[in-house]
Amino acid sequence: MPGAERLLGLALLAVAAAAQAQQRPVDVLLRGGTVCDGSGGPCRAADVAVLGERITFVGDARRAGVRAGRPLDVAGLVVAPGFIDPHTHTLEDLSDTGRRRMEGYLLQGVTTVVAGNDGGGPFAVAGVLEQWRRGRIGTNAALLVGQGTVRRQVLGMADRAPSPAELDSMRALVRRGMREGGLGLSTGLYYAPGSYAATEEVIALAREAAAAGGLYDSHLRDESSYSIGLVAAVAEALRIGREAGLPVHIAHIKALGTDVWGRSDSVIALIRAARAAGRQVDADQYPYDASGTSIGASLLPRWAEAGGRDSLLARTADPATLGRLRADMTENLRRRGGAGAMLITGAGGRSGLVGKTLEAIAREQGHDPITAALDIIRHGDASAASFNMQEADIERFMREEFVETGSDGSDGHPRKYGTFPRKYRRYVAGRGVITLARFIQASSSQTAETFGLKDRGRVREGFFADLVVLDTARYRDRATYQAPRLVAEGVRYLLVNGVLAILDGRPTGALVGRPLRRKE
Ligand SMILES: [Zn+2]
Repeated sequence: MPGAERLLGLALLAVAAAAQAQQRPVDVLLRGGTVCDGSGGPCRAADVAVLGERITFVGDARRAGVRAGRPLDVAGLVVAPGFIDPHTHTLEDLSDTGRRRMEGYLLQGVTTVVAGNDGGGPFAVAGVLEQWRRGRIGTNAALLVGQGTVRRQVLGMADRAPSPAELDSMRALVRRGMREGGLGLSTGLYYAPGSYAATEEVIALAREAAAAGGLYDSHLRDESSYSIGLVAAVAEALRIGREAGLPVHIAHIKALGTDVWGRSDSVIALIRAARAAGRQVDADQYPYDASGTSIGASLLPRWAEAGGRDSLLARTADPATLGRLRADMTENLRRRGGAGAMLITGAGGRSGLVGKTLEAIAREQGHDPITAALDIIRHGDASAASFNMQEADIERFMREEFVETGSDGSDGHPRKYGTFPRKYRRYVAGRGVITLARFIQASSSQTAETFGLKDRGRVREGFFADLVVLDTARYRDRATYQAPRLVAEGVRYLLVNGVLAILDGRPTGALVGRPLRRKE
């Protein structure tokens, strides 16, 4: 019966066509993993598919007919949004041919970094972003406009208020940086020359960032008891946000030094009250009890740096100022726990100092610690790990819903190579201070929202395919104060903009990160 045969044939063709329509070819399929999507909600079993640079499917791939050119079996592993680091010192890394791969960050699971923090970002934002685009970079990267840079451009290292015309010049530079794609205004009010600015001056600049839809990112004027004190410094940051009308992000939140240990409670109360009043306020934190600094930045009073390095050296040689300088440095060393709590991690050509405490160096030289410190500063300074935080404060901050993960990565401190895995290993898996889902949220979606990074930070259809696949049994930091550049382990796969940057635990060498402008 040829008629019936023909009908059957047509029916089979129709079924085949329907199946064809349901087949969804993708480039990469992460099959059988546990997805923590960045929302902070419970992790769940799901497949994740990537087509081009975007996530195109999250769910049961077989049932939905999703077929991949490249299926990867991720059973037993955690699939999460690539981590976003809101506070780094990678401006130079990203511009350096040898370091632009950013492998130390990729191996922690980081796919996007923010640079230009602590007041040090450029105002010529477009030029830097274009340089990164042409040079190609390993992670995505965005920039903050630096108040310190802007002030230095207009006023040099002068410790004085700007004239109205000078303030206008500074405002124009911030406007330019924001127009060119800056995420917001960063300050380092602890450091010279940022510290020479009164609150009102910072508010005037922050208003320019606010007008462009940016945020205020602050290294506080005082994280300790140096000048106005930790709690007043937090209040100052909140005031700047309130009066300029923009979100406030407090960098590397901590209680630095014995004078303010335990004050995390007061800081948290202030921030909770601001948030309850409807203000956008949050912070980031690195999971270490030592900060990364230099002997000069940690011990010198800011008045000694006014005018610049020549003026500083003159003051260290002048008996009229040396006495006051030594007295202030002695007090600053006490705040930080004494010479035994300062570990030299880098000293330019004087590598014999590295790995020793200031106390040990002073003893070897037969000097007191302040004489040894001044000698180091005269020879071009040295980077140091300053052990000045208390575990109880670290954990209290970490539990807060407003605290994100940020490395503040700087050379010589293990946080640059270990922050994200250390937070997981020590505080999630080890002590249960926060859950895995909360760790992921604080390291991805929350940061993307704070910094206005569009379509990043979640495992969700339509979002950019910045994805990390973690072997949580192995995910750990290896960097130490003695060997700060040991890379982390336990990231099995990592995708940046849909391209595998780590395959089977090894970097592929792909330079597929993008410079990101605000809201893009
Ligand atoms: Zn800082």
